[in-house]
Amino acid sequence: SKRKGRGQATLFTQSMLSDLRHARLIERELRAAILLDELELAYQPLFRADGALHACEALVRWRHPLRGLVPPSDFVPVAERSVMIDLLGEWVLRRACRDMLDFPGLIFGVNFAPSQFKRDSVVSMVETVLGETGADPSRLVIEITESMAMSDREDVRQRLEALRRLGVKIALDDFGAGFSGFAYLQSFPVDTIKIDRAFVSKLGTSHASDVMVTALVNVAHAYRVNVVAEGIETEEQHTLAKLAGAELFQGYLLDRPMGIAALKERYAVRTQSSGPKELASSGAA
Ligand code: C2E
Ligand code: MG
Ligand code: MG
Ligand code: MG
Repeated sequence: SKRKGRGQATLFTQSMLSDLRHARLIERELRAAILLDELELAYQPLFRADGALHACEALVRWRHPLRGLVPPSDFVPVAERSVMIDLLGEWVLRRACRDMLDFPGLIFGVNFAPSQFKRDSVVSMVETVLGETGADPSRLVIEITESMAMSDREDVRQRLEALRRLGVKIALDDFGAGFSGFAYLQSFPVDTIKIDRAFVSKLGTSHASDVMVTALVNVAHAYRVNVVAEGIETEEQHTLAKLAGAELFQGYLLDRPMGIAALKERYAVRTQSSGPKELASSGAA
């Protein structure tokens, strides 16, 4: 993996993950971690083309007392195999909703795992957390990936519609990475797509890569959906993503994920407290 490549220890290797007993161990530890308050959220900013802060995305981390900071790739997939994902998902949403109150006006993105959409209860969970925290639904964007089972597409669509009726926005994450992105765009009510880093990182490397990103943007705009280019690491990628027509930009070049306190310190003064700003409507609007 990337992390190994950077010389950091990987906590759970693939072979360990495939070991059911090990998965059970992580599950137990994760349950304890939630009770012991060992999880935290890092927020990565999203910017408009003019450089203004538009939103942030909540990314979960596990501050393990012995193993240090554990990335989501090491425990979210394990949690997804059991009911732990519902506990984890609710913890993440509740923490993000509380942090929203600390940062008036800013839009907050929260990642939901595909398996959280397997039950109707996802809707009442979101409604309950919004009610309990008093967070403004119109500042919440739920990020879903296209890896959701196409078999229960109609159930998922209805749950997404119900979430939207609560006033929540939906973003299609990692767009283009799988086979079903376009089908999802056709059948699901989404407000935003996030073009996968795999495409963004190829910007500038070939004419075909640039055309590909422009095509993804144009398809999204045909559905009146806004476009985020994620994983921007170079000035060239930033420039080309703007040229391709994306409205929002996220990546290490622009800023890294950080705790809510750091986010407030860096950005709070620059943000109005007048509620979420609408983006200029996209292409086909
Ligand atoms: P994602 O939702 O696509 O989030 C973007 C990931 O890319 C984050 O990694 C972010 O730190 C990283 N990233 C951002 N900009 C750059 C860049 O310029 N270059 C590179 N190389 N990477 C960049 P992270 O935090 O490790 O999260 C990985 C994935 O784990 C997320 O992908 C998301 O699918 C999942 N995840 C994170 N938090 C949660 C959560 O609370 N719940 C669920 N269900 N999944 C989560
Ligand atoms: Mg995401
Ligand atoms: Mg993404
Ligand atoms: Mg991704």
